[in-house]
Amino acid sequence: MVKELTFSSSSKLELIDITSQIEEVVLNSKVEKGLCFISVPHATAAIILNENESGLKEDILKSFEKIVPPNSEYLHNQVDNNAQAHILSSILGQNKFLLVKDGRLIRGTWQNIFFVELDGPRSRRRVIIKVEKA
Ligand code: ZN
Repeated sequence: MVKELTFSSSSKLELIDITSQIEEVVLNSKVEKGLCFISVPHATAAIILNENESGLKEDILKSFEKIVPPNSEYLHNQVDNNAQAHILSSILGQNKFLLVKDGRLIRGTWQNIFFVELDGPRSRRRVIIKVEKA
């Protein structure tokens, strides 16, 4: 079963918690034991697993800016001025696998699922979710 979430973002860099929507997809899939594949079909966004704590979310976004500063002399910025977003997306990754057991995602207490906006705000972002028996 493949499901698609669509939503908008409101900042250049933003962490959007999509855990409850993904859990709903898993629940509706009726898969008791299997795999949940989460994919972002964008070159300027990513998926991470981490704690939804407001201070930490700010720390994470600030660290992204330190790891890949927005205003270095990137060649791609001559094209559409978003090299930072492409580079961070490459580093962070655009998909995740989670295991499903007893009809639920196996994840740690402090592991929420975040869509990472790296080139917002955008009116339409997508996340593709596939839940399979395994
Ligand atoms: Zn670009």
